[in-house]
Amino acid sequence: MKHSIGVDIGGTKIQFATVDPEGRIVHRHLIPTEAHLGPKQVMDKVMIGIDALASLYPSLNEIEGIGIGSAGQINFRTGAVEFAGDTMPGWTGTEIRRDVEQRFRKPVYVDNDVNVIAVAEKVFGAGRNYNSFVCLALGTGLGGAIVEAGQLVRGYFGGAGELGHVSVDFNGPRCGSCGNNGCIELYASGTGIARLGSIALEGSSAEHGWEANSRSIIQAWLQGEPLAAEVMDQVIRALGAAIAGFIHMFNPEAVIIGGGVSETGRVFFERLDQAVQARTSTAMYKACKLLPAYVGADAGVIGAAAQIWYHGDF
Ligand SMILES: [Zn+2]
Repeated sequence: MKHSIGVDIGGTKIQFATVDPEGRIVHRHLIPTEAHLGPKQVMDKVMIGIDALASLYPSLNEIEGIGIGSAGQINFRTGAVEFAGDTMPGWTGTEIRRDVEQRFRKPVYVDNDVNVIAVAEKVFGAGRNYNSFVCLALGTGLGGAIVEAGQLVRGYFGGAGELGHVSVDFNGPRCGSCGNNGCIELYASGTGIARLGSIALEGSSAEHGWEANSRSIIQAWLQGEPLAAEVMDQVIRALGAAIAGFIHMFNPEAVIIGGGVSETGRVFFERLDQAVQARTSTAMYKACKLLPAYVGADAGVIGAAAQIWYHGDF
C-alpha cells in the first residue's frame, strides 16, 4: 500500500511525516507554528510542510491521502475548526480540509489532535485489543478522546471527549478556556501542576529547591521533596477523581494515558491507580486497566496519517 502524509498542528509546533500502513514513519520534519502570526500564516506553513514531503516522491500518485490532527474543536465532517482557544489565535473557522484538498487534490481527513492519538493507540498501540477505552493526553493542557464499540465518540459536531473540562471542584478556580470552575485541566496538566506548585511556594517561606513548572516539581517529587510531594498528591487525587468519573460514565476496558506528565513513569501510575481504586465501584475498577500510551510523542502525527486508512471505523 501507498504511504500517507500526516500533519499534527499544535500550538507550538507542526509535525509532518509520511507514514506507511504499519504506522512507521518514513520521512519527517517539523516547523514552529508561530500561531500568533494568525491562521493564514499557519495554513501557509501547513502547505509548505506537505509540499516538502510530497516532493520526496516521484509524484503525488504515490501518496494515498493527507490526514491532519489539529488543536481545537474540529468538525470532522467538514474538516473546519469549530473553536480554538488562546493557543491558536484566530484559528476558529479555518477551513483546513477545504484548503488542503483544493491545493493537493487528494483525500483529506481532519480531526482533533487527541482523537487522532486515540486512532494511533487503537490501530498500533496500547488500545489494540480494546473496543472501549478512554485516552488522556497530559501535556500543556489536558486532552481526551473516547472510543466506544471500536468507534470514536464524536458527539454532534465532533467536540465530544473534551475531558480536560470536566470539573472536579465546582468551587475551584475559573477555567479560562471554558468558563467552568475546577476543570481537571487546572490540576493535572503541565500548566495545572505549575499553578498548584506556585500556590504551594507562595504559602511557604522555606527553600524547596524547585521551581513552579511541572518538570521541576515532578523531579523534586521523585526525589522525595515534601512540598513537591504535597503538590503531586493533589494532582493525583484530582486526576483520580476525574478518571473515576470517566470509568463510571463509560465502563471502559482501559484508560490510556500519554503526554509529558505521564512519562514520569511507574510511580505516577501506581499512585494514580490507588487514587482511582479508592473512588471507583469495585466491578468497574476491576474491569479497567490504567495503561501508559504506547505510541508516545509521535502518536499525533502517526494517528493523523492513519485516518486515511481508518476513518470512521478502526
Ligand atoms: Zn474548562
